[in-house]
Amino acid sequence: MTDVLPFQAEIERFMARHHYERLEPRAALIDMDGTLYDSMPGHARAWHQMMGEIGVATTREEFFFYEGRTAASTIDIVFNRELGRGTTPDEVERLYGRKKEIFNAMPTAPVMPGVAEVLRAFTDTGMQCVLVTGSGQATLIDRLSSDFPGVFSRELMVTSKDVEHGKPHPEPFIRGMQKVGVKPSQCIVLENAPLGVKAGNRAGAFTIGVATGPIPPEELAKAGAAVTFDSMTSCAEAIHSLLLSICLISAGR
Ligand code: CA
Repeated sequence: MTDVLPFQAEIERFMARHHYERLEPRAALIDMDGTLYDSMPGHARAWHQMMGEIGVATTREEFFFYEGRTAASTIDIVFNRELGRGTTPDEVERLYGRKKEIFNAMPTAPVMPGVAEVLRAFTDTGMQCVLVTGSGQATLIDRLSSDFPGVFSRELMVTSKDVEHGKPHPEPFIRGMQKVGVKPSQCIVLENAPLGVKAGNRAGAFTIGVATGPIPPEELAKAGAAVTFDSMTSCAEAIHSLLLSICLISAGR
């Protein structure tokens, strides 16, 4: 191979890091909040308001850094810091219930610009799309079939109910791989948050990190993203050449 392909260095670096002979993308494991939907500002606002209602001090921004964690883990971090204690399952149910109530009363989160094109690139190349989210927000999960018709199926979803450990633990993505019956070298993860990227990389998947909020692409690269983009629309512009390069580099070995 004489000419340098787009993303060649990134792809080869990833393969060397994971000791892969080749990559054969068959499944795309796709995060929901901040990736499919521009919902993170709303989630951050809802968490901040709920904590304010019970007199616990937080900043709206900190919730962007907890993105991907389970509700219990998020509440635990804040409670340990502010109250010097962890949380109980009853408390989590009540407080997460209230947070969901606040979120659901907000205007519906828009579909992330560019993501439909990225999904089409996956399905056009015969890849199976699997939702892998730490969320248990039924309102967004229910919208998937109308917003992205024919892309996701109910049977191929990993939500907060399916896992014991949330991101950054690799379990959610490993469960996604098991649902489709593919190996890590056959998966591409699409993520927007450092903890999600970390989980995807730990699961052994080629992880695309897209900075769709206040956290810069460098943080996603540090978390283990194989490639990063500064927006979903720039990811959409590059995704075809990225997938082609992966195939050509794998075939050339
Ligand atoms: Ca996310």
